Amino acid sequence: MSIKVAINGFGTIGKRVADAVDAQDDMEIVGVTKTGPSFGCGLAEKKGFPLYCTFDDADRISSFAESGYECQGGLSDLLAIADVVIDCAPGKMGADNLAKYKAAGIKHIFQGGEKHALTGQSYTSSANHADNLGVDGARVVSCNTTGLSRTLVPLYEHCGSLKVECTMIRRAADPGDSKKGPINAIAPVLKVPSHHGPDVMTVKPEIEINSLAVAVPTTIMHVHAIVADLPDGHGLTTESVLEMWRNTPRVIIMSGAGDRITTTAEVMEMARDIGRKWGDLHEIFVWEDGVKLNGNRLYYFQAIHQESDVIPENVDCIRAMMNTEADWRASVAKTDAAISAYYGL
Ligand code: NAD
Repeated sequence: MSIKVAINGFGTIGKRVADAVDAQDDMEIVGVTKTGPSFGCGLAEKKGFPLYCTFDDADRISSFAESGYECQGGLSDLLAIADVVIDCAPGKMGADNLAKYKAAGIKHIFQGGEKHALTGQSYTSSANHADNLGVDGARVVSCNTTGLSRTLVPLYEHCGSLKVECTMIRRAADPGDSKKGPINAIAPVLKVPSHHGPDVMTVKPEIEINSLAVAVPTTIMHVHAIVADLPDGHGLTTESVLEMWRNTPRVIIMSGAGDRITTTAEVMEMARDIGRKWGDLHEIFVWEDGVKLNGNRLYYFQAIHQESDVIPENVDCIRAMMNTEADWRASVAKTDAAISAYYGL
């Protein structure tokens, strides 16, 4: 039986999650919402995703037809025909939407712009898939937290303990966003430590982690500079850490010097070559020559494509919540193979 998925908020994340769900053979998109007529409605129609209004009031619903788009109804109509809703609204709108999902009695997945406390349950595929089996609500953590989890969880699982300090060098805005900055400054996050590192503990509480963050004038990726202290007797070398990550799903290791990928610009150019829509890079990118283990202290850099690393995680989270795949590695393999086939890769 196919899992019926609704997408509430068809923006940067919503349109990507919709494609990733559409790629799978065990789930289908039954509708996506827009707040009103805009170019995103055209994309939904082109994809054949039924279009609904984010709200239930008649005036808003009829405004779609006035602009030439076919709207099937309001959010309540969509929630009534779905098994699970993926909330892709802008951050901090979760509380209002959660009340609607609870009233409709539907399972719900929020994104990283919401706090852990909203659902009391957070998710990344590699860290805590099993904890989310059958739950009614969860939050797929942010792009940064997802990126930290991808490389830190396998390290933690090898070592049994881990203390981490990291600096998040964050993109100022998404490429399609004209409202945010800075455009000519470096803006430190003056809430110290920043929320990014500690957010990892919502999916892997055993990892002791803190972070600082700065926003810089770029739109294409975040970079993390990470220092991890491993326990005595860890038995690892720089090369074996790299080998561990090479065997970790959704992590790419490439060399700055050898592959001539020395900045995020080349990383994103390489991502466009892969051929996923929007030039997405679902994997976390680690520079091989930026990794060094000195005694118990591991240093590394990684780059995060903020708009897309969380996309396949939403698919895995659906399977966890619907209790259709208990093994996270099996879900990840299924999700990623289906996405590759969808784009003919
Ligand atoms: P976005 O602004 O690109 O898209 C949000 C969409 O939701 C828009 O189409 C908007 O019209 C619609 N919307 C507005 N009000 C709504 C409501 N009340 N209910 C439902 N939809 C509504 O935002 P985004 O970047 O896609 O972010 C969505 C979520 O994903 C946020 O929690 C964000 O923090 C998180 N996230 C974003 C990124 C990123 O880089 N963009 C990465 C990871 C996680």
